[in-house]
Amino acid sequence: MASQLLLNETTDFLASHHRMLIGGAWVDAASGETIDVFNPATEEIIASVPAAGEVDIDKAVAVARKAFDTGPWPAMSPSRRGELLWALADLVEDHADLFNQVEVLDNGMPYNPAGAMAGPRAAKTLRYYAGWPTKISGLTVPADTPPGADHPGVTYVQREPIGVVGQIIPWNFPLGMAVMKLGPALATGCTIVLKPAELTPLSALLLGQLVEKAGFPEGVVNIVPGYGDPAGQAIAAHPDVDKVAFTGSTAVGRKIIHAASGNMKKVSLELGGKSPFIIFPDADLDKAIASAGRLAFFLQGQNCMCASRLFIHNDIYDRVVDGVAKIAAGMTIGPGLDPETNIGPLISAAQLDRVQAFVESGSREGATLVTGGNRLDRAGHFMAPAIFADARPEMKIVREEIFGPVTCAQRFAGDDLESVARQANDTIYGLIGSVWTRDLETGHKMAGKIRAGTIGINYHGPADISAPFGGFKQSGWGREFGAEGLNQYLESKTVVTRF
Ligand code: NAP
Ligand code: MG
Repeated sequence: MASQLLLNETTDFLASHHRMLIGGAWVDAASGETIDVFNPATEEIIASVPAAGEVDIDKAVAVARKAFDTGPWPAMSPSRRGELLWALADLVEDHADLFNQVEVLDNGMPYNPAGAMAGPRAAKTLRYYAGWPTKISGLTVPADTPPGADHPGVTYVQREPIGVVGQIIPWNFPLGMAVMKLGPALATGCTIVLKPAELTPLSALLLGQLVEKAGFPEGVVNIVPGYGDPAGQAIAAHPDVDKVAFTGSTAVGRKIIHAASGNMKKVSLELGGKSPFIIFPDADLDKAIASAGRLAFFLQGQNCMCASRLFIHNDIYDRVVDGVAKIAAGMTIGPGLDPETNIGPLISAAQLDRVQAFVESGSREGATLVTGGNRLDRAGHFMAPAIFADARPEMKIVREEIFGPVTCAQRFAGDDLESVARQANDTIYGLIGSVWTRDLETGHKMAGKIRAGTIGINYHGPADISAPFGGFKQSGWGREFGAEGLNQYLESKTVVTRF
């Protein structure tokens, strides 16, 4: 079937002169420097965007500071803040097709207008946060009466926005990341400097246009594309930024912590994963195999929740490996705009080289490559999804986050849950995990034993925007989503009154 045609509005948007949004104005980088934006399916340049430098970050932080300290935003009534978020959600939904096409061209992901990464879901996320401003409340505290007094007075705790927030996001699902970051910060009354990934800046710029249309006061949302160093680094280190929220690799997360230490800004981190997907012999195997195949290769495996370590009971090991391999081999690899595509290109030539090096190391270290792993001989950064059998815990493919369409199968024997959990927990990461069994007792006991922020029982993925999401161990600091996610953007202030 022919590839989907581009909408006029997509072509117009791509061809427009892209600038960054600082204090309600669209501007070029002070240096004039730009970044070329590539379509990973064709390797063609589709746009160019300004590359923010330190000077631009200084400007963006200054206007965000002013908008927070003296602007109308933090003092605006909660219901009005909610209305603006709702208006932004409506605009995102109205432009869903445009967003979806831009995402596919910029990131390479298969087009899926109903999918978790697409416009309607982004609108839903914003609506979730639109409901929050009117529900953020503090508490009163039953403090003791001080010695010599006849009344305890009144002690209450109020919740206030943390201030100017720097947000730095990765390229793997750019629009979803942008709204997941902006939503809670806006709901709480913070002002924002958002840096999208250098490889996928376009949907954030488009979102910036809608932020303006929705009517947010100027300086509340500033969008500054640029390189990790200097732009991201400058945000993380900036003395006038009160908090930095980062999603990306554990290695860069460590740099963010160092950079943030200067003014001791608050830090939240959503980092890498190496998620266990554990299949017991009593599981609904058809369902478990289908899910393992889908979730190992979702977004070309370029997602932090990737089912990258399969632990399979001996009795069903061959059947599961065979089933996942068949799914991998049956996938249609191609450009995201082709409706038959299940697997798009990897994000860049560098990422493809990196993943290929992992495939080579797996074979070198003695794992069995059951299917896939090869680069495709065509334009674009394509490779066939791969599964390794006979993986062992010390292998690089098992220890490190590959961030590509490669999964590794390991065996377990017997029914000692403790030893299965020990295998699953043998990682520096702790983002998510899943257990596949018909025995709920096994499921819940395993959920208690796995050290990760989200555990699925016959499910692998995040719960919903209303439940906390984040990592144990080196998968991050703090939680996003739900009330816990809002807490990341709030300070508590205790007020003590004596009569
Ligand atoms: P990355 O290299 O860590 O980059 C993430 C962001 O940080 C990008 O905007 C990047 O800018 C910026 N950056 C790079 N160096 C920086 C520095 N020194 N200071 C400040 N910012 C800097 O990650 P990625 O390769 O884009 O994304 C893949 C990683 O993200 C994986 O490890 C994945 O597991 C993780 N991830 C985690 C979650 C989660 O929720 N836990 C979700 C998705 C992805 P450039 O674009 O210029 O490099
Ligand atoms: Mg791109």
